[in-house]
Amino acid sequence: MVKILDNNSISRRNLLLTAAVAAPSAALMGMAAKAAQVTQASVNYQNSSKDGHSCSNCKLFVAPSSCKIVAGKVSPGGWCELWNDRPGTN
Ligand code: SF4
Repeated sequence: MVKILDNNSISRRNLLLTAAVAAPSAALMGMAAKAAQVTQASVNYQNSSKDGHSCSNCKLFVAPSSCKIVAGKVSPGGWCELWNDRPGTN
């Protein structure tokens, strides 16, 4: 009986330690992801397409209105200098 309680105590302690480590790590990863994004101005984002290229046909577009690397809300009909249609980039 004591051994079972000891195992349960260890499991709870390990669970709490894992949670204590995982929570700040997740927060840091979120911060790193945001830090990796560039501003719309720095990539000349515009709310209209260019030469048939637009966010909606860019591999970096995240529907309905986000981008993997450009910060802020983007339009499916928008465009920026980082437009990308290469396979395997998303
Ligand atoms: S990289 Fe540029 S063109 Fe592609 S989705 Fe993001 S903002 Fe739009």
